Amino acid sequence: MLNNPIIDIQNVSFRYDRELVLKDIDLSVPKGAFLGIVGPNGSGKSTLLKIILGLLKPKEGKISLFGESQVKFKDWDRIGYVSQKANSFNTGFPATVYEVVSSGLTKKVGLFKSIGRKRKKEIDDAIRSVGMTKFSGRNIGELSGGQQQRVFIARALVSKPDILILDEPTVGVDSQNVQAFYDMLDHLNKEMGITLLLVTHDIGTISNKVSHVACLNKHMHFHGKTEEFEKFQGDELSSFYGHDVHLLSHEHDHDHNEVKK
Ligand code: ADP
Repeated sequence: MLNNPIIDIQNVSFRYDRELVLKDIDLSVPKGAFLGIVGPNGSGKSTLLKIILGLLKPKEGKISLFGESQVKFKDWDRIGYVSQKANSFNTGFPATVYEVVSSGLTKKVGLFKSIGRKRKKEIDDAIRSVGMTKFSGRNIGELSGGQQQRVFIARALVSKPDILILDEPTVGVDSQNVQAFYDMLDHLNKEMGITLLLVTHDIGTISNKVSHVACLNKHMHFHGKTEEFEKFQGDELSSFYGHDVHLLSHEHDHDHNEVKK
């Protein structure tokens, strides 16, 4: 269906012991897409991400990354990942934003090697791309949840991935800063050309942000462009969730100033 998808999953099923968690999953992530995978808690979203990242091996199905079978794929630097647990990082640890982001390069430069001028620029660029330049020298523990999340994204970006995978990234973001957070993701996607895959249980806020939607609940209930997703709304969507769901039809104005006083 799609030319050269970055991620291509066909017929994947997965069980933990006896519990079947994913059944016959097909999913394509085209280059340049901003895909939102939505589904209620326990619907298999994190499991699917772990499968994409090679942390869990399904017995059934086929997975390709950048056109290559996942079994042979080695270039994992092309895939950036920010886990749901990023926010439980020990933020009491005395590390600056710059130091946290530079730790994203340790695979490339080694833990104790000094960082050259080129690498310093890469770190500064990653920090700038998430709008955190002003906070570069600040201790990570002094920042708000949303700012910390931006720092973890910069840490994933510093090795210049083609795709960034985010598991529930707005969980620690204050509600008045969610819009600015999505604007930052939009900048990464549209201006910097990074393909984004975002997982969330919050279907209401995502539908007007993403180019593609996948609705997962053990089965893939819907997968396609956001325009087509509009048709999947109403009763069908509510029965998918088991309760009434109202999607946002317009964006709210939010205070873009996320500075923690
Ligand atoms: P989601 O991310 O959508 O909340 P998960 O992928 O975390 O869903 O979980 C899907 C189902 O798999 C749930 O029923 C959960 O209890 C179960 N599950 C998740 N991780 C494990 C595990 N390590 N062992 C056994 N069952 C698990």
